[in-house]
Amino acid sequence: MNVTQQKCACADCVCIVDVKDAVKKGERNYCSQACADGHPQGSGCEHTGCVCHG
Ligand SMILES: [Zn+2]
Ligand SMILES: [Zn+2]
Ligand SMILES: [Zn+2]
Repeated sequence: MNVTQQKCACADCVCIVDVKDAVKKGERNYCSQACADGHPQGSGCEHTGCVCHG
C-alpha cells in the first residue's frame, strides 16, 4: 500500500500533507517551506488551526 499522506515532519505541526505535494527536505516531508526551514523567522506555516512556528 502506498503512503500518500503524512504528517508534516515539523514536530509542532499538525498538518497532513500529500507526499507528492510536500516540501521535501532530506527524507522528510513538510507542509510548507517555513516548516522545512525550521521556522527561521518564527513564522508559522499559515495553515488554519496550526500553531507551529518552531
Ligand atoms: Zn503547521
Ligand atoms: Zn508543517
Ligand atoms: Zn511547522
